[in-house]
Amino acid sequence: MTPFRYRCTECGRTFARDAVRYLCPDCGPGGPPGEPLRGVLEAVLDETELRRALDARPGDLRAFLPVEPEFHPAYPVGNTPLVAVPGLGAALGFERLLVKNDALEPSGSLKDRASFLVVAEAIRLGEPRVVTASTGNAASALAAVCAATDREAVIFVPKTAPRAKLVQMLVHGARVVPIDGTYDDAFRLSLEYTRERGGLNRNTAYHPLTIEGKKTVALEIFFQLGGRAPDAVVVPVGDGVILAGVWKGFTDLVRCGRLDRLPRLVAVQAEGSAAIHRFVTTGIFRKVDVPDTIADSIAVGVPSNARLARKAIEESGGFSLTVSDEEILEAQGLLARTTGIFAEPSAAAVVAALPRVDEDRLDRGSEIVLLVTGHGLKDVEAPLARLSLPDPVPATLDAVP
Ligand SMILES: *Cc1c(COP(=O)(O)O)cnc(C)c1O
Ligand SMILES: [Zn+2]
Repeated sequence: MTPFRYRCTECGRTFARDAVRYLCPDCGPGGPPGEPLRGVLEAVLDETELRRALDARPGDLRAFLPVEPEFHPAYPVGNTPLVAVPGLGAALGFERLLVKNDALEPSGSLKDRASFLVVAEAIRLGEPRVVTASTGNAASALAAVCAATDREAVIFVPKTAPRAKLVQMLVHGARVVPIDGTYDDAFRLSLEYTRERGGLNRNTAYHPLTIEGKKTVALEIFFQLGGRAPDAVVVPVGDGVILAGVWKGFTDLVRCGRLDRLPRLVAVQAEGSAAIHRFVTTGIFRKVDVPDTIADSIAVGVPSNARLARKAIEESGGFSLTVSDEEILEAQGLLARTTGIFAEPSAAAVVAALPRVDEDRLDRGSEIVLLVTGHGLKDVEAPLARLSLPDPVPATLDAVP
């Protein structure tokens, strides 16, 4: 592991690792409700040390992680496939499409990467309880990693979370508190809970290591492409932490001299939950009062990491766009039929985005990585809105259509 400090992404003040835990004490706590978090911290790795570690063990992602390997949970995450999808490309008119398939994480979503690192931190701190608010996947990931490390997971989720995600949490033995309200209500309540009753809070962006955990997906893409970045990465966006994590991974590679050309980031939101898209396109933040989309993992009224997400999109020369639920479901089917990959609606949103993008914004011949963030089996109700199960027939050959 490379030594690091935390730096406030707003005021730039830096802190020793154990001098802060969540947000910058100057900028962060006490921000007005209904606004994105202020004072989100980023881990700044010592680049000389990082280079040295990489020279000693090329391709070893552990050098990039700010928690020592001795604390890492015995719950392997990452190393998911990066696959060319020419059939999907042909259907959509793109020549070089790839899918980074994080549906194949152990709990079925990219959230395993963040939960892994925050639980590693809990182990380092000797903290037996980890608390999170979640739309569903962060919680099922946390429940699984806590189960593997004999830790207690306390989870606040909207009661409308897909049943399979709730079942995952319960099967892994988490304490689940369904909220009669939105994800944003769960976020606020989980912070109150940690303040009053303790535990390490894993809320996305609030704990800086969520961004660090998620950045590993970018590092893997870089190594899987043989030491370079693609032209663009398409990312589904709720709170904006995956997006910021992808950017952090690639910029860490630049800082240590391994990469000189960064990819453009394309941020995809659901039409009914598009606070970050609006922030990027108008410069004004306005929350979404009642997020409304079947893509539950990106249904967020007040995206906690909106500021950093917007900065990442702009720095990358990328852009954001929105897709409808109808387009998401259609894209889910197209992805499944052309690649064999079954993505949950939020993840299928990246496929839905492609037909929406004009050629002058995204060259049809450029190399584009679609980040598939979650497995379709987590929510079978969503595609059933457009499918009907065939009627059963008697078990005789005559009856087979
Ligand atoms: C959490 C999640 C997202 C969005 O990630 P953010 O960091 O909240 O922007 C997208 N897809 C899936 C499947 C997720 O679980
Ligand atoms: Zn600050």
